[in-house]
Amino acid sequence: MDKDKARSIDAHAHWAPAGYVRMMAELGHPAATGPLNPLMTDLEKRIKWMDERGVQMHVLTLSGSMPWQWASQNEARRLARVVNDAAIEAHKAYPDRFIAGAALPMRSPTAALKELERVAGEPGMRAVHLPNSVEGHDYIFEPAYRPLLARCEELGYPLLFHPLDGVENHYGGKKRLAGPEFMYNTLGFPFDTATTAAKFILSGLLDKYPKLEIVLPHSGGCFPYIAGRIEHSIGKGAAKVELKHPFREYIRRFHYDTLAYYPETLRFMIDLVGADRVVIGTDNYAKMDVEQPNALVDQLNLPPADLERIRRGNAAKLLRL
Ligand SMILES: [Zn+2]
Repeated sequence: MDKDKARSIDAHAHWAPAGYVRMMAELGHPAATGPLNPLMTDLEKRIKWMDERGVQMHVLTLSGSMPWQWASQNEARRLARVVNDAAIEAHKAYPDRFIAGAALPMRSPTAALKELERVAGEPGMRAVHLPNSVEGHDYIFEPAYRPLLARCEELGYPLLFHPLDGVENHYGGKKRLAGPEFMYNTLGFPFDTATTAAKFILSGLLDKYPKLEIVLPHSGGCFPYIAGRIEHSIGKGAAKVELKHPFREYIRRFHYDTLAYYPETLRFMIDLVGADRVVIGTDNYAKMDVEQPNALVDQLNLPPADLERIRRGNAAKLLRL
């Protein structure tokens, strides 16, 4: 299969290395919400699975169950080290199959920066993976995190954002999206991501760090759909914001993954942001993942050059492969 198409690079894939699973269990927390898919830990099985589906490479990151909300500072530092050391080993064992986004103990800007410096430039480390918000708090916009943003820009490490599981982190508070309907995920995650995108633009941080790259998961959440509304609020003077550049240029400052589920939605997003800003993302192997990583974009009948960009070209450039 896929002989006529480029094998893809998945910029939104999850794993749980064995040492991390062990340490999480010792701390009394499971490494995933629900049963842990064996593909989350077993790299050999994962490669077979990837080969059967036209996937060349996974950018390994923790899932939404990452521990930063509940872990103590000491635990968070140890967990991040275990995950990152395992990622470096995974890349050394399979350099053309796995790279990683660094796990950082995000609750402390100094500890996060310290762990980033420890792994910066290590084999396979090509990005930083971090939660959109913690307990409803958009920590990344605090001045204390500016040195971390500056260092990521300097290293050329894109920020791979991901919403955080856990009742304390529900978008809109503990009650509003709680319950068996799973809306904390299906509604909360997209709003969390839209909030991150809007705040990066409206705070002026994208101007302050002009080379900083940011990947928005889940096809940008609701952001692509409401971007026009945000621009209109600025034009009307309702938002007291002055931007240096046209709003649509900021939309294109982000990369967006293909995890939109509906072909119509993915087509809309590609039309809005441009085929050069889209990368494959699958959520493999978390609860909301897909069985065929490239299927949604393949069915859009895009020009071959655009399809190649989305399957791997954009990610290869972004992650400096
Ligand atoms: Zn995910």
